Amino acid sequence: MNISSKVIEIYRKYYICPHCLGRCFALLGTATTNIERGNSLLLSITMENHDLYLSRKKDKEEVALVNLRILAENARFIPAKKVLENEGIEYTLCNEIKECYLCNDIYLNLQIYIDKAKELVKNIEFNSILVGTSPDSEIINREDKFKAEFNILSSESFKSHFNRVVGKTISTELNKPAEFSNPDILFLYSIGFKNFEIELIIKSVFIAGRYNKLIRGIPQTHWMCRNCQGKGCEICNFSGKQYEISVEELITPEFFKETQATDSKFHGAGREDIDVRMLGTGRPFILELKSPKVRTLDLDNIETRVNQTNAGKIKICDLRYSNKKEVIRIKSKAETSRKTYKVLVEAEKELNLEEFNKNIKELKEIFENQQVNQRTPTRVSHRRADIIRKKIIYKIEAKQIKPNLFQFIIETQGGTYIKELINGDNGKTIPSFAEIFESPLICKELDVINVDY
Ligand SMILES: [Zn+2]
Ligand SMILES: [Zn+2]
Repeated sequence: MNISSKVIEIYRKYYICPHCLGRCFALLGTATTNIERGNSLLLSITMENHDLYLSRKKDKEEVALVNLRILAENARFIPAKKVLENEGIEYTLCNEIKECYLCNDIYLNLQIYIDKAKELVKNIEFNSILVGTSPDSEIINREDKFKAEFNILSSESFKSHFNRVVGKTISTELNKPAEFSNPDILFLYSIGFKNFEIELIIKSVFIAGRYNKLIRGIPQTHWMCRNCQGKGCEICNFSGKQYEISVEELITPEFFKETQATDSKFHGAGREDIDVRMLGTGRPFILELKSPKVRTLDLDNIETRVNQTNAGKIKICDLRYSNKKEVIRIKSKAETSRKTYKVLVEAEKELNLEEFNKNIKELKEIFENQQVNQRTPTRVSHRRADIIRKKIIYKIEAKQIKPNLFQFIIETQGGTYIKELINGDNGKTIPSFAEIFESPLICKELDVINVDY
């Protein structure tokens, strides 16, 4: 069956709009749009029919059937309609023509879809867009049945036509390019024959920086109350939080103000314990701001405001734009990159300087550039699997402050449990400083002073 006969077959049974007709033969006409292809087919078939009728090779009824379905609601074919009238051909079949069987005239009214999308992004800053569609099963099933019925093999789907045409128009009208891999805005249409919805997916803004934690007693990120899991209870004073404040919660408000994001996620290059300060050049972090309305930020100004508000508690610096890829990198590097710690250690037994120096000499021999085996510490065993981690200790410097009070500067592989390296955790970390000192050691104060990144 040639294309014309197939088109006539279709119109004997259903009315479809020129967009959908063009779609049926999408792979057969390159560099044309579906509407161009559909209208061209209709025009050439109409001309052919007239010719056949005028040469009396087709009867009136046959011509009327085909042409009237075709020229329905299609202003371009009014001249053809006049020809039919002149020929005295009745076109009562016009009354049967309703909406397009395949798209229910959705393609004839796309501006509604476009205007709604434009309305949704009126107050949002973005540089690129993409349109995605999820047609409901009624549309998909009807199309599948139709394709099988007329043996249509080279069509373009409802979804792909919609995405391209709507995407192109939105892009032109808003003057924002379409971006296929990672658009700032994704318009996600859910479409039925009668109604539709748009979900707006706004790409997160990622800001990288480094933070210092200048006080002890606050966690890096906010923890939900263990008792109520965040719902709010008497124990947490109905805050839903285990700790009153965190580094994350001190940093984020200014970013929320600026971006009008709906949510955020704090990604640190590892984390220090609650009672550990983060000094020196600070710890790298990336703040992910979800669904931001503003993407161009005055980072210097935000940094100044965060630091002024939180003077003496935390400090941030080196702010810059980042991305999702770097979040993955920051997480994976946390386990391997070098960290330097300053530790204040109290020994049970007092040492003179000679004994101290002898211990330090031995400590350096045993630990420097060597591996230690650390079983999951007792203090975190309730939330971490019990495994043995092998960590390298790179460098140790020590000084005696009092006969039983020492300061260590220890450079280690990321993820080393420092408190356990010092006290041995009842034999779970081997070897440990306590073993060398032959005395129980207590980690009095711990600071991170450098995180390599
Ligand atoms: Zn249609
Ligand atoms: Zn609670």
